[in-house]
Amino acid sequence: MQPQISFEFFPPRNVEGTFRLWDAVQVLAPLDPSFVSVTYGAGGTTRDLTRDVVATLHKHSGLRTAAHLTCVNATREETLAVAQEFAKAGVKDIVALRGDPPKGENSFTAHPDGFANSVELIEALADTGDFTIRVGAYPDKHPEAADMQADIDWLKRKLDAGATEALTQFFFEAETFLRFRDACAKAGIDKQIVPGILPIENWKGARNFATRCGTTIPSWVDDAFAKAERDGREDLLATAICTELCSDLIDEGVDKLHFYTLNRPELTRDVCFALGVTPKVKLEHVA
Ligand code: FAD
Repeated sequence: MQPQISFEFFPPRNVEGTFRLWDAVQVLAPLDPSFVSVTYGAGGTTRDLTRDVVATLHKHSGLRTAAHLTCVNATREETLAVAQEFAKAGVKDIVALRGDPPKGENSFTAHPDGFANSVELIEALADTGDFTIRVGAYPDKHPEAADMQADIDWLKRKLDAGATEALTQFFFEAETFLRFRDACAKAGIDKQIVPGILPIENWKGARNFATRCGTTIPSWVDDAFAKAERDGREDLLATAICTELCSDLIDEGVDKLHFYTLNRPELTRDVCFALGVTPKVKLEHVA
């Protein structure tokens, strides 16, 4: 079975980044993703950039485009005004998040006139009737959750508030996701939980990020990358590990995969190819 795929990008920070993003879109678009999404900088720092990138992608790439939106550092009116700008640009998919605090701050503090949490944001977006809403989920538990059950109960509240599906934080072993999916089903969640997949471009960076997110790092992955680095074959290992992870998930009935591309398309493309997801050439492009 071939999975449905989707890709996450981030807004570019400079001209070089803009070309890199567009290259990434050109490489991955032929794989016919069900949607692509664009992140919203920590602390709401890329508000205008995210808006411009989703509008441009939507208009020029022909891809269904989702905008991430967070509640950080903004009043309710400001946050909903950004959502309306997305809608005006034709972007009707939102990944609704509470968001991480701005750099230098350790915990989320709601703006006095802002949404207190993600559930409030999702309810307000759902009330508009304008959007398909997706939310974040955490197979290794969000660092702020009291325990896994509390995290899953909160996820249920987010989905019940008007979201259609959840996209997960990345994880390293299929078992982590499968256990989480079972626990969600047991808690009465009947909406789809889509695994977030990180093709590991750079082990040091991925490791640091995983540590910050509270994602369990299996020692075998650490050992494998140490050896691969010594032999100069990190790319081969990254492709093999990611392909095996996706393949194990597909064997267990997972039919959607959401790739964190980090705007670098090659590994994601190679993994998709290995899974049998190949470019779809539109008939009008055949001479
Ligand atoms: P929530 O799920 O609302 O809260 C996080 C956890 O805290 C919950 O799992 C829950 O256990 C607990 N919690 C929070 N409030 C309550 C409450 N009132 N009662 C009980 N428990 C509570 N960050 C960005 O800045 N920009 C992005 O574009 C972005 N994109 C992301 C995309 C995905 C798919 C994912 C998984 C994460 C993304 N993040 C992004 C990171 C995200 O903002 C952080 O993980 C943030 O700390 C939590 O946001 P959330 O909406 O998942 O929070």
